[in-house]
Amino acid sequence: MSENASPSTLFSAFARAPIHFERGEGVRLYTSSGEEFLDFAAGIAVNALGHCHPHLVEALQTQAQTLWHVSNLYESPQQESLASRLCDNSFADRVFFTNSGTESMECAFKTARRWHHDNGAPERVDIITFEGAFHGRSLAAISAGGNEKYMMGFGPKVAGFNQVDFDDYDQLKAAITDTTAAILIEPVQGEGGIRPVSHQRLRELRELCEEHGILLIYDEIQCGIGRTGKLFAHQWVDGAEPDIMGIAKGIGGGFPVGACLATEKAASGMQPGTHGTTYGGNPLAMAVGNAVLDVVLEDGFLDQVMEKAIFLKQRLAELADSYPDIIEGVRGDGLMQGLKCKAVNTEVVAAFRDHHLLSVPAGDNVVRLIPPLTVGEDDMREAVEKMDAALMSMQNAG
Ligand SMILES: *Cc1c(COP(=O)(O)O)cnc(C)c1O
Repeated sequence: MSENASPSTLFSAFARAPIHFERGEGVRLYTSSGEEFLDFAAGIAVNALGHCHPHLVEALQTQAQTLWHVSNLYESPQQESLASRLCDNSFADRVFFTNSGTESMECAFKTARRWHHDNGAPERVDIITFEGAFHGRSLAAISAGGNEKYMMGFGPKVAGFNQVDFDDYDQLKAAITDTTAAILIEPVQGEGGIRPVSHQRLRELRELCEEHGILLIYDEIQCGIGRTGKLFAHQWVDGAEPDIMGIAKGIGGGFPVGACLATEKAASGMQPGTHGTTYGGNPLAMAVGNAVLDVVLEDGFLDQVMEKAIFLKQRLAELADSYPDIIEGVRGDGLMQGLKCKAVNTEVVAAFRDHHLLSVPAGDNVVRLIPPLTVGEDDMREAVEKMDAALMSMQNAG
């Protein structure tokens, strides 16, 4: 627990839990006083391979002794390597590396608008998004996300983002106009409350985009990199590939890295001078990204994620049955599970933390369980025991 008495000189923008970690190993975090926590928050779906995975540590150390940074003024074999692996394993032909999810989305917005600009429809600038969406915290990203709380006090919305209900196809169809550039969706909403989009709907979005000559953008920043048991969540669905996709979080395993992936066609407008980044794709980030893919693309790794996910989901469903006054249900795909709460979700998160299990609140009164993909069955059993004890204490107090 924090014993820091002096006033903080940090922005107060985060409501931080009164705890600081000194060290991490696998699925576990340790405080300076040696308290152990089971980490089912994973840095908000970032530590895809847990803490201090030996392969990632080695990749970072080796790169750190060779070359840190040269900027994008020069060729980058490290970027070429990671980009071609991402393309070999997805719909994409082209990649732009960034430092964060927000920047990946910014690149996606610019790529989509530029494509229309270069193809005789400069008036096509609007991007349609969905209620509950989260795309980051820049001015464009909060305008895209449409969450009023995140907009408040930050001036006019960036123009060109329209939002429709999460699951209203007719409203969506009606929202497509002559100025629409793209549809943007998370195949599984994360921050919005672990809400998977149906496979049928993703296929319909693809068809709508074809019909209207507009682009389909996915935000797989949270649901990508093996989280659902495929490298990318939309790969569960045939005939629903995007034109552009933002990734981040898991691809860096804890090192800040993101990317915007696109087809050859969609990326065609992004010629020299159109976009840039100083740090994006730096050799340290690329070394770690490549190391993450070494593990996630290993034969059988993603199959194991699916097996673990089935185990976790079953145990969570049993918990929900045992505490119907606190937990309403379980939803999600793969190792991206949400407990839809009847109690206040932040109180459930606090109770879990009191029992040394870390989780993350989400919208729609949901608690997110997003453990490292390397989590073991024993870890999951232990996590469920901690949840059970926490929910029992809430029930007895309640
Ligand atoms: C985390 C997240 C972002 C923003 O990523 P940052 O790295 O925080 O900028 C965008 N979209 C989704 C779906 C996310 O989960």
